[in-house]
Amino acid sequence: MLPFTDTIAALATPVGVSALAVIRVSGPDTAGLVDGIFGRSPPPRSVKRADYRGQDASLIDEVLFTFFRSPNSYTGEDSVEISCHGNPFIAQKIVEDLLARGCRAAGPGEFTQRAFLNGKMDLSQAEAVMDLIHAQSDRALVAANHQLRGALGRKMELLVERLLGVIARVEAYIDFPEEDLPAEDNQWIANELAELTREVEQLQATSHYGALLRDGIKTVILGAPNAGKSSLLNRLIGRDRALVSAEPGTTRDFLEERIILGAHSLRLIDTAGLNPSPAPLEKMGIQKTLERAQEADLFLHVIDAATPAPVLPEELSQRISAVPTIVVLNKIDLLPDSAATADHDGKVVLRVSALHNTGMEELVAALNHQAETFQRTVGTDVIAINARHSAALDRAKKSLVTAKAKLAATTPTELLASDLRDVLLAMEEIVGKVDGEKMLDQLFAKFCIGK
Ligand code: GDP
Repeated sequence: MLPFTDTIAALATPVGVSALAVIRVSGPDTAGLVDGIFGRSPPPRSVKRADYRGQDASLIDEVLFTFFRSPNSYTGEDSVEISCHGNPFIAQKIVEDLLARGCRAAGPGEFTQRAFLNGKMDLSQAEAVMDLIHAQSDRALVAANHQLRGALGRKMELLVERLLGVIARVEAYIDFPEEDLPAEDNQWIANELAELTREVEQLQATSHYGALLRDGIKTVILGAPNAGKSSLLNRLIGRDRALVSAEPGTTRDFLEERIILGAHSLRLIDTAGLNPSPAPLEKMGIQKTLERAQEADLFLHVIDAATPAPVLPEELSQRISAVPTIVVLNKIDLLPDSAATADHDGKVVLRVSALHNTGMEELVAALNHQAETFQRTVGTDVIAINARHSAALDRAKKSLVTAKAKLAATTPTELLASDLRDVLLAMEEIVGKVDGEKMLDQLFAKFCIGK
């Protein structure tokens, strides 16, 4: 039985003048509403044209509507989508009419929440709907589509099944507290726990990729004042966003631009020049550069080919050696014949002229190549977990490690079983088997209204 007794309605498209606007209705009264408004309940999933008249019979708009019969709808309930002309005034009048006819205004993400609670999708798929709506690059789209089609859910199902096998074996001994687990069972369980831990770690390793897909690859451009950082940023974004100046130390704060490069979304962050003897105001900029460097996924280290490269602060050198870095030798127009590609700790060195737009294709290719290396797959699926999944997997792994230690120390099987049940709870949380609605409410509150 479907749990909802009320029928919800909302505008599913942004407010503004557009070609079309779509209003969505879902709940048990939908068929009656459709009948009341349009004088008929058409066959499901076929588009019909009709006049939309208010309760006083005044014509609001000529619309197209599609009726969906439970359970074959997005929410699993009877629902209807009404496409009207894209005038916010018309859309609002239709929504108001629906509310006057007894609908309730839907909250953020309420349609998707119903889809989840009605068993149309698991929680990881509901989250993928959100990822899909916000995907900014081809790679983000691929990952969201894999997750929407249940890649993560299927993976968790396999892990849970395997874990249940271990739990069953352990629990078989709970009734015989005096006896130790037979050696062969002990070994089998230890192997299974090790294997489950490895699988969990493999999923955890996709967390960084998930963050890169959702937030963009944080690409921090750094180098000495006047090396050409702003010029390079402008070249990459294709317009003059950063202030280019011949006076060193002009970028005291940060410029951040999101760009789509090939299949990837990058957040390019231009920083204050790393002047070894800075003026007081510059010092603040440099401090901020160091802070931003801590969050960088990738560095573009810009060096002026015509000037000796300054020594970097130790903190920064360490960070650079730990994070993928592309060294950009800029202003090669000033030294066209120089073979100056001084060894930069084995990092890729590219020769460009931001001013004359040379070497930029190679730079873009190198950035793309680097971005590709961040991608993670688990089997044939692209998986990129989010922070919620990551927290649950951390808990699962902790309990797996504890369980394995207890097994080695021949702790009573009951205690082992309780850790394994903690692993189970953490794993199930990923697909949404959770106690309490608070977490769900918080999660769906991040959605837009009408989704
Ligand atoms: P930033 O301080 O590192 O951001 O450097 P800017 O981008 O502001 O550039 C500093 C100066 O170097 C400006 O006068 C630019 O026109 C100049 N510049 C930047 N790139 C090149 C280049 O490839 N060749 C030459 N000759 N000058 C450049």
